[in-house]
Amino acid sequence: MIDDGSSLTVEMEVEDSPAAAIAPREPPKIQRLEESVINRIAAGEVIQRPVSAVKELVENSLDADSSSISVVVMDGGLKLIQVSDDGHGIRREDLPILCERHTTSKLTKYEDLFSLSSMGFRGEALASMTYVAHVTVTSITKGQIHGYRVSYRDGVMEHEPKACAAVKGTQIMVENLFYNMIARRKTLQNSADDYGKIVDLLSRMAIHHNNVSFSCRKHGAVKADVHSVVSPSRLDSIRSVYGVSVAKNLMKVEVSSCDPSGCTFDMEGFISNSNYVAKKTILVLFINDRLVECSALKRAIEIVYAATLPKASKPFVYMSINLPREHVDINIHPTKKEVSLLNQEIIIEMIQSEVELKLRSANDTRTFQEQKVEYIQSTLTSSRSDPPVSPLLSGQKTQKVPVNKMVRTDSSDPAGRLHAFLQPKSHNLPDKVSSLSVVRSSVRQRRNPKETADLSSVQELIAGVDSCCHPGLLETVRNCTYVGMADDVFALVQYNTHLYLANVVNLSKELMYQQTLRRFAHFNAIQLSDPAPLSELILLALKEEDLDLGNENNDDLKERIAEMNTDLLKEKTEMLDEYFSINIDSNGNLSRLPVILDQYTPDMDRVPEFLLCLGNDVEWEDEKTCFQGVSAAIGNFYAMHPPLLPNPSGDGIQFYTKRKNIDQDLLSDAENAWAQREWSIQHVLFPSMRLFLKPPAAMASNGTFVKVASLEKLYKIFERC
Ligand code: ADP
Ligand code: MG
Repeated sequence: MIDDGSSLTVEMEVEDSPAAAIAPREPPKIQRLEESVINRIAAGEVIQRPVSAVKELVENSLDADSSSISVVVMDGGLKLIQVSDDGHGIRREDLPILCERHTTSKLTKYEDLFSLSSMGFRGEALASMTYVAHVTVTSITKGQIHGYRVSYRDGVMEHEPKACAAVKGTQIMVENLFYNMIARRKTLQNSADDYGKIVDLLSRMAIHHNNVSFSCRKHGAVKADVHSVVSPSRLDSIRSVYGVSVAKNLMKVEVSSCDPSGCTFDMEGFISNSNYVAKKTILVLFINDRLVECSALKRAIEIVYAATLPKASKPFVYMSINLPREHVDINIHPTKKEVSLLNQEIIIEMIQSEVELKLRSANDTRTFQEQKVEYIQSTLTSSRSDPPVSPLLSGQKTQKVPVNKMVRTDSSDPAGRLHAFLQPKSHNLPDKVSSLSVVRSSVRQRRNPKETADLSSVQELIAGVDSCCHPGLLETVRNCTYVGMADDVFALVQYNTHLYLANVVNLSKELMYQQTLRRFAHFNAIQLSDPAPLSELILLALKEEDLDLGNENNDDLKERIAEMNTDLLKEKTEMLDEYFSINIDSNGNLSRLPVILDQYTPDMDRVPEFLLCLGNDVEWEDEKTCFQGVSAAIGNFYAMHPPLLPNPSGDGIQFYTKRKNIDQDLLSDAENAWAQREWSIQHVLFPSMRLFLKPPAAMASNGTFVKVASLEKLYKIFERC
């Protein structure tokens, strides 16, 4: 209370005398900072926390060609960090300037930066440590009978180097880190201790530098928390550091590109498979042997995992990327935690596709025992003389193609879509960023056969879907690019050099049906905020239907039909709930629906029709027919039908303008519904189809896909213009 009162007075005083508030202030005097202040500020940047000191020291040891590095830590690194190596050591005559700022043995001129193979180059790390801690160095060089020990403070030796007994290499002790930076020390002491971070750092280093043995332990502890031995096999190193459970679930990945126009790199690594389960992504990334972070790559990989694997497990990924030295700028971050790459986007994209390919093929063979899909020339692609080969099957690199055959292959790249040419509208869509992450995470699906039902009827239905699959259409669906909506029902898609019109209602209906079977008995649920009474919903649907009975008992009859259907569905509640996550509560209210595709909810206006269809059209006696019927009803309900309100950006606008007073709410509802649907088509339907749809052969002839143009032919026409 007292506090409140006083702050109020202060405010009032200020308000009472506005002149005081704007009184001109004398410009503060600019002065030169003292060298020691400058150095301490700079040091605080380089050595942000104990783990940054460990990283610098270990990198120095690696630069000194060590084959064994051991780290001892006390009090999370605040009390002591001690790094010992068996490297080439430091010459006696270099010791006086060892810890001065900008003294290094690794760089002499700026240009060296681009041909450098050492980790360090700034000559700042040791100096920085001496400004924020007490540093003692013991080192011996080859051929010497004894070593030297010397302590440093603020960049300078505290005394002449003392001769001492020493084993091969260098030992650096950093004590009382941040002793002179009270605030930093306090925040670090309060935060969880850095020891975990140090262990993590050394684990990462150990699996990459598998020609060096690493150990890390707490001071006084007998057992090391990281202990790696030199091994020629990377997988062995991963096994010894991260354990068998990680190593046994890894797959090797490799990509290399040698494009003379600039994108040249090699990547090799290991990625976790679908059996690996973890809550947090581990991406151990080395670029030209430097341990770095790259959030864009991390996100790109997470997206692929989320979109491809059944469980929401985060991946374990080790990757080592090598590029020509001149393509990497290592000098963009004070602790060299990040680097900047030439052609970063392309590199990330290529790695992402490789990871996706690897996962998808591993997943396909594992979950569906899918036979290798031989390309069968389909009616859709018959005009091509050279059959398109799926990258999924060939793993071949793309080759230069003539311009008239160039196609957009990145299905997630928005550029070139119809949207890009249209005036953006501010639709009220939550988080509708068309980023790849949203796209991919929106299609996270379960595909694990263990999770689908054991029921043979469901297995048979799934087998039926697989056996009807049209290979040419499958190829088209997997590799096509969504261009935009051509009208209310047809989307324009591009596949190789052809343009097709694809019926999104048919496609989505089929996809939802297939997904219902695949997720059978393992659905996530959509909880309805207002449970709705079944009988009323069914009645509503009946009223919509034109029964045309032509007598006044019409309503009575409808009520009776509604009643019967309600009773029927109530009888089936247990089954509907258990297998399809359709919940009808004890009061006869519909309270829960299944999630068929993540991030997609069906149009609730279609619930009445759905319930009526369940009641009327499902054959409940035979198990298989029953499941098929319910799945088909769900498929139809969840399909991406045109919204019930006319499309305000199409011909439907007449519907709104004809009304004398345009109802703004109605108009904006309609706009939202249409925009929402289009978003879902682009970001949920197409990405999901690419991954999961097995298009039935019937779709090749029933107008679901219609070829409208071929780029080569169009190109010939344009060429003449
Ligand atoms: P940088 O690594 O950028 O050169 P540092 O301050 O980390 O700068 O180290 C300064 C110099 O000290 C290095 O260039 C190297 O010559 C020497 N040095 C540091 N640590 C070691 C070590 N463990 N073994 C041998 N030489 C070392
Ligand atoms: Mg260094």
